[in-house]
Amino acid sequence: MTEHQPFHSLGPWVYCPLCAGGLSITESEELPRRFCARCDRVYYHNPVPAAGGVIIVDNRVLLVQRKFRPRVGEWTLPAGFLEYFETPEHCAVREVAEETGLATRIDGLFGVYAGHDDPRFTALLVLYRMTATGGQLAPGDDAREARFFSADEIPENIAFLAHKTALCDLFGGSLKVSWAEPDSARARMTGKTGGSDV
Ligand SMILES: [Zn+2]
Repeated sequence: MTEHQPFHSLGPWVYCPLCAGGLSITESEELPRRFCARCDRVYYHNPVPAAGGVIIVDNRVLLVQRKFRPRVGEWTLPAGFLEYFETPEHCAVREVAEETGLATRIDGLFGVYAGHDDPRFTALLVLYRMTATGGQLAPGDDAREARFFSADEIPENIAFLAHKTALCDLFGGSLKVSWAEPDSARARMTGKTGGSDV
């Protein structure tokens, strides 16, 4: 199996999913892309959109502990990948309900984050400010635990850079933990290369 290269414009596919023919490599918009000559089709390798919620109660933010790979046992904001037919808002409300048991309403956009450290693929995470309107807090099928954390309780083992960066944006200097990666992740997002490790 071809090793996945998240920063590469080439996807991991070797065969065309439509005709099963071998894919060649072509150049499109100045980047190499997989191409099926028989179908005359370029296969773009784009990030996968995800959505989730920033839910605050008494200055504590709701996090869930991952039950499944990757990053089993690590914590994230409640979030997940969009189904093909969903809007980001529907996805965020559904994922929060599935992972935490809470019904929510969306109050507004919190932020949009690039996820470049997921071993499966790169992601684009849309986070909303959300308010719980009902339900019972309980971890769902794909969460071990769901609970609220204050700034000084945030665990060090947050699973993904996008979530670390969002927590930095939320709590800023009040966080007790500090991660080296969010600044470089942000630099990648904005194209600024002031950091030493970019
Ligand atoms: Zn084809």
